[in-house]
Amino acid sequence: MATLQFKNVIKQYRQGKQSLQVIHGVSADIADGEFIVIVGPSGCGKSTLLRMVAGLEEVTGGEICIGPRVVNQLEPAERDIAMVFQNYALYPHMSVFDNMAYGLKIAKVPKDEIKARVDKAAQILELGHLLERKPRQLSGGQRQRVAMGRAIVRQPQVFLFDEPLSNLDAKLRAQTRIEIQKLHRELGITSLFVTHDQVEAMTLAQRMIVMNAGHMEQFGTPEEVYNRPATTFVASFIGSPP
Ligand code: ADP
Ligand code: MG
Repeated sequence: MATLQFKNVIKQYRQGKQSLQVIHGVSADIADGEFIVIVGPSGCGKSTLLRMVAGLEEVTGGEICIGPRVVNQLEPAERDIAMVFQNYALYPHMSVFDNMAYGLKIAKVPKDEIKARVDKAAQILELGHLLERKPRQLSGGQRQRVAMGRAIVRQPQVFLFDEPLSNLDAKLRAQTRIEIQKLHRELGITSLFVTHDQVEAMTLAQRMIVMNAGHMEQFGTPEEVYNRPATTFVASFIGSPP
């Protein structure tokens, strides 16, 4: 069953009186629980695609479906998604617990339920002993985990990650990558993960979407993409012989 579908999705940005097309008809069916990486060079449209799923950018043409619903016209809060950004802004004056609970309080989830969900997320992310701390009392890696915790507690149908590792040093990047894999194993939430890094894509993806200049060049497993690149672009970008 497809959880997430792109049906000939098009995006044009308006620039004054001109319009600039940056996504040229992307179609893909993503199954329940899959971990999908969208990879391609800077400016190819990865963030735009993700932001349309999140409802942060309007879809110009085609449809995006989450579960059985066309979500084109829905507000971000109505979409059953959670997004982890590169700059994982936490509320500095709130404790770790309150940072993770905030979205649930806004959504009027009962107190007991909030506590249960935050405790579960804290256990998975090994944050249990840090719940009373403020963000400034945490390491970079711990802050990153709080940001992921905040997404988990919402129990979304789809997780969206926009280059969450790119501001981290090499060691922390490797750790966080493992953390994300563990999270996916334990929770099995359908995930869309954007990166410009081929190695990261090959390591994390169950299937990957290779983008170039707003076009989907290939959609397949890392093995397929590596061994049978669909285009010369894919061959040179992934680094295997055409
Ligand atoms: P990526 O995330 O792959 O680096 P983006 O989705 O951010 O790429 O951008 C794709 C293209 O759309 C780029 O050419 C970028 O300049 C353009 N773009 C992104 N956001 C806007 C915007 N708000 N207005 C106009 N053009 C934009
Ligand atoms: Mg981007």
